[in-house]
Amino acid sequence: MMKNDILYRGTIYQDQFRLFATECAQSVQQARDLHDLSPLPSIFLGRLIVAAILMSGELKAPKSELSIRVEGDGPLKGGIALADKAGNIRAYAFEPQLWLEPATENLQVGKNLGKGLLTIMKQSGLKSPYQGTIELISGEIAEDLAQYYLHSEQVPSAVNLGVLIDQHANIRSAGGFIIQQMPFADPAIADMINQNLLNTPNVSDLLDMGMGMPDILNRFVLKDVEWKFTHQHKLRYHCNCSKERFAQALMLLGKDELMEMTAGISPQCHYCSKIYDFTSTEIHDLIIAQEQNK
Ligand SMILES: [Zn+2]
Repeated sequence: MMKNDILYRGTIYQDQFRLFATECAQSVQQARDLHDLSPLPSIFLGRLIVAAILMSGELKAPKSELSIRVEGDGPLKGGIALADKAGNIRAYAFEPQLWLEPATENLQVGKNLGKGLLTIMKQSGLKSPYQGTIELISGEIAEDLAQYYLHSEQVPSAVNLGVLIDQHANIRSAGGFIIQQMPFADPAIADMINQNLLNTPNVSDLLDMGMGMPDILNRFVLKDVEWKFTHQHKLRYHCNCSKERFAQALMLLGKDELMEMTAGISPQCHYCSKIYDFTSTEIHDLIIAQEQNK
C-alpha cells in the first residue's frame, strides 16, 4: 500500500531559504496507468509531475494553476504536467508508448528529448497568465528547472526530482524537493546545504527504502540545519474535464471545421483518456449556437 501523496512547504533559518518537498508515487502511478506509459515516458513524465507539484507550492490565489511543458526534437518529444493550488495533478506524454533499442536507452531522458524548450505557465484566473521559457540544458528536468529559476526568476535553487520504476514501468517511488536561496541568505548556510547535498544518496532510492521526505531532509539534505515545515496538503491525480468544456472548445473552431464533424465525433481527453461522444444532432446544435452567438 502506497502512502498518500503530499506536498510540504517549509522554511530554513527564518525564511533565508524556501523549501518545497513532495512524495507523490500514487499520482505518478496513476498517470502511468491511465496513459499505459512505457519505461522512458514513465520516468520522464514522473519527473515532470514531481516538478509541477513542487512549483505549485508557491501558488497563492485560490484557483491558481501551474503547468510545466517540455518539448524536444528527440524521439521522446516531450510532455506536460499541471498542478493546482488545491492539489490536483494531471499530465500526459507526447510519446506514451515509446520503446528504444538497446534497452538501456530507455533510462536516458535528456538524450532522447534532444534539443528543446521548457515552459512554465502560471494562471491565477484574475491576472493575465505568467509565462517563462528556457532552452533545455541537459533535458534531465531537475537541472533545467534550476536553470529556469536562475535565469527567469533570479533565484538560485537546488532541484531534486526522483522517480524509480520497476521492470514493468510500475512506480517504485517518486518525490523530490526544491530549496531556494533568498537574497539576504547567509552564504555560509548555503555552503553547508550544498555540502549536505553532495552527501545525499539518491532520493528515489531512499523513498524506495521506506523513508519519508521529513526523514530524508533531517538525516541528509538539511542535516544540522535549522528548518521546519510550515504547511502541507494532500495531492491527487484528478482531471477537471467535462462534456461542457469540450463543447466550449468545439465552439471556438470555425464553422467550416464544425461542418466537417457533422457525422458526429468522439474526442478524447489527453489528461484522463475519457471519451466524450458528440452525436450528429449535438454538432448541429453547436453550429446553430455558434451562429446565434455572432
Ligand atoms: Zn480529462
